[in-house]
Amino acid sequence: MKQESVNASIITIGDELLIGQTIDTNSAWMAQELNKAGIWVRRRVAVGDVRQEIWQALDEEMKQSDILLLTGGLGPTADDITKPLLCDYFAGKMIVNEEILTHVKDIFENKLKRPLLERNLKQAEVPDCCDVLLNKRGTAPGMWFTVPTTSSRTKRIIVSMPGVPHEMKGLMNDSVIPRLKREWDLPQILHRTLLTAGVGESFLAERIQQWEEALPSHFKLAYLPNYGMVRLRLTTTGSDLNGLQQELDYLFAELQNLVKDTMVINEDKPLEEALGELLLKQKKTLATAESCTGGYIAHLITSIPGSSAYFEGSAVSYSYEAKERLLQVQNKTLVSKGAVSDETVREMLNGLLQQTGANYGIATSGIMGPDGGTPDKPVGTVWVAVGNKERIETTCLRFRFDRMRNIQLTAANAMLLLFRFIQQDTA
Ligand code: AMP
Ligand code: MG
Repeated sequence: MKQESVNASIITIGDELLIGQTIDTNSAWMAQELNKAGIWVRRRVAVGDVRQEIWQALDEEMKQSDILLLTGGLGPTADDITKPLLCDYFAGKMIVNEEILTHVKDIFENKLKRPLLERNLKQAEVPDCCDVLLNKRGTAPGMWFTVPTTSSRTKRIIVSMPGVPHEMKGLMNDSVIPRLKREWDLPQILHRTLLTAGVGESFLAERIQQWEEALPSHFKLAYLPNYGMVRLRLTTTGSDLNGLQQELDYLFAELQNLVKDTMVINEDKPLEEALGELLLKQKKTLATAESCTGGYIAHLITSIPGSSAYFEGSAVSYSYEAKERLLQVQNKTLVSKGAVSDETVREMLNGLLQQTGANYGIATSGIMGPDGGTPDKPVGTVWVAVGNKERIETTCLRFRFDRMRNIQLTAANAMLLLFRFIQQDTA
């Protein structure tokens, strides 16, 4: 039977989530994967390792959602109660699953080389009313329960997975998502995203208002501001993949045209990846001289696989001495103009390009806070230089956030400045 839309709830279980000791990254990741598969996540709930709370969350979410995805509470210790609870909830009996038993023994004997305890053997016990999902990355198996319903909904599916993110992801990719796709005739959800810089979201909204209002009802536009830039994501849902793709491409082209003077890239990818691709395309290399960002830009650049093809390296030149020794910044510049100055970042960049032989470079120096500000250089004042041997551009940025956010903003904006510099340079 074909259903209008398929809804899911995510229930994350664990006291550590409620006291903020562990940040719930599982539900964000699962929501993204479900969304890609055409399943709408209508609610995310976090509960403690408390029988009554878990039970109540199941009751509550079963009323509305076709799919309940649970993580957590499957460990071998006393605080993990999800498995026996699910067994009771679905009126099952605990039985030993031979396949899981062999798997658990294999992990202890051959991989961990540790003695197997009675409580580890318990990992192979599962309710007799579920399908067992083998967890290749750990000992706790996943459990898949199918509950027929009499309502307009055809069935409910409840899947319980371990809380360890790496194990949960393995189960989701190997079993859960492929199987959910087979269970329902799911709609297509397509997105296209572009990144703009230099214009605030309200101005963007004013500019594209007419176009946005005229969008067909199966299209939605989202504004996603971050780091002083705004991503625009156009989403559509339906069943005819080819038709939707064409319509989306057409409307996305119109949108690009409306914002073209502020658009940086027309893809959904981090700036460091777009910068890497641009360098690769131009067969050019990059190095960074980082004072206030402390290597954070280099970290972002090198988080991208394959960055060794274009990234030369970084000088984390924090002190005066390091700036002088590693980058040949003149002592008199530092003393007379200060480390956070146009002149200093220029000299840092010059020294960097000479030392590394890179085609392009970024240099940063700023006051990230919370202390160290002065009336004319308050906390959040940052000088950035980008350029090559022929030309250097400097910019003074002013942020007003906490230290970490100031560092992230500096990195994002420095990469943006270089991205635009290279685009002009190679136009
Ligand atoms: P459990 O299956 O409850 O034994 O969870 C094992 C570990 O996974 C916990 O100690 C947490 O470190 C981690 N974990 C549990 N739930 C989450 C979650 N929602 N997001 C991220 N990590 C989690
Ligand atoms: Mg737990």
